[in-house]
Amino acid sequence: MIAIPRDLVEKILSHLNRELPNEGCGYLAGSGSRITHFFPMTNADHSPIHFSFVPTEQFEISRTVRTLGITLIGVVHSHPGGSAILSAKDCDLADPSLFQIVIVPDSQPAQIEGFCFADHSWHLVEIAILD
Ligand SMILES: [Zn+2]
Repeated sequence: MIAIPRDLVEKILSHLNRELPNEGCGYLAGSGSRITHFFPMTNADHSPIHFSFVPTEQFEISRTVRTLGITLIGVVHSHPGGSAILSAKDCDLADPSLFQIVIVPDSQPAQIEGFCFADHSWHLVEIAILD
């Protein structure tokens, strides 16, 4: 299970909505499976169907996370007009040591699903939104 405070979900949704019609992305940090920080990232692809990170931003966030004494635990990205599932390409490219959260920001309400890698494949994991 991934736990995430509701105000952080709102921050993520506003970033992903700003990026429409393109995919938006970012890092999630915290400790254990508890997310406490969201770092919006630039989608270097500026595309509605795929995303990639900007390496300089990745370095910057790694440093910030270390300074804060937390760890990177997940990646979030959006599938505008799509489904909240990992695409075949997502499965190939995603870092298996991190949770993956996929959001459809332009559905009502926004669809949110979480995935973790275990036993050689990606599995749905429950997301607990904390008030
Ligand atoms: Zn994707």
